[in-house]
Amino acid sequence: MSTLEIKDLYVSVAGKEIIKGFNLTIKQGEVHALMGPNGTGKSTLSNAIMGHPKYEINSGQILIDGEDISNLSVEERSHKGVFLAFQYPVAIPGVTLANFLRVAVNAKMKALDPESKGMSLIDFRRKMKAKMDLLQMDYSFGGRYLNDGFSGGEKKRAEILQLAMLEPKFAILDETDSGLDIDAIRIVSEGVHSLASQELGVLVITHYQRMLNYIKPQFVHILFDGRIVETGGPELALKLEEHGYDWVRDEFDPTETQA
Ligand code: ADP
Ligand code: MG
Repeated sequence: MSTLEIKDLYVSVAGKEIIKGFNLTIKQGEVHALMGPNGTGKSTLSNAIMGHPKYEINSGQILIDGEDISNLSVEERSHKGVFLAFQYPVAIPGVTLANFLRVAVNAKMKALDPESKGMSLIDFRRKMKAKMDLLQMDYSFGGRYLNDGFSGGEKKRAEILQLAMLEPKFAILDETDSGLDIDAIRIVSEGVHSLASQELGVLVITHYQRMLNYIKPQFVHILFDGRIVETGGPELALKLEEHGYDWVRDEFDPTETQA
């Protein structure tokens, strides 16, 4: 069983320090929710973990089973078992979803085993159909160009299909629920919940309780000003739903004078 450990991480973007001393440990099979006001660094953290070149790690470590991956490329990190579902997935006209997935699955198999010939077309199709069933996606989706003309909800489902096909150890879902209607949130969230029960470690970033009702996090963290200021169980998300973030700001905003 693997562990993803983020230790005292500091990250800058465009010359400004956004993540300021972030600590979190996620074991495979655990679901952690990360919540917090807009602009507090949730996407910056996700991008830094995945290795986006614009996000500069100033200090700290990102460890998988004790091995620091913070100097690896995005591709190498993905082969180590980290997956990021983007808040804004990009379109790749000319490449079908099925072809994209097949290339990605085979690349990962080759990275793990240089001798691997990849998955046979029949095995690949069988697996893709099983995962599409899980996410209640129409099979015709596989023949469409990746995210090209996909609705918001279709893009998010395609992201989760990639997640299901690549079988990473850890997944970060950055506001995967934005743009989804109620039914799609349920389907996508239940899909993620079932992957978590098969030993996927999940960091789910969301503003809404709805997704958490299905994904069922064991841990809820509040990010504020680039660090975790509070950790609790599912009740913490309910408190945020009821009271918003004002109490977090009152308690933790360094620019507020303390009474
Ligand atoms: P959140 O996801 O919590 O809403 P972000 O991580 O997107 O917050 O943003 C945190 C801060 O970092 C914001 O001030 C934002 O403007 C800045 N930021 C994030 N990404 C970039 C980027 N690619 N270029 C410039 N500034 C960025
Ligand atoms: Mg964001």
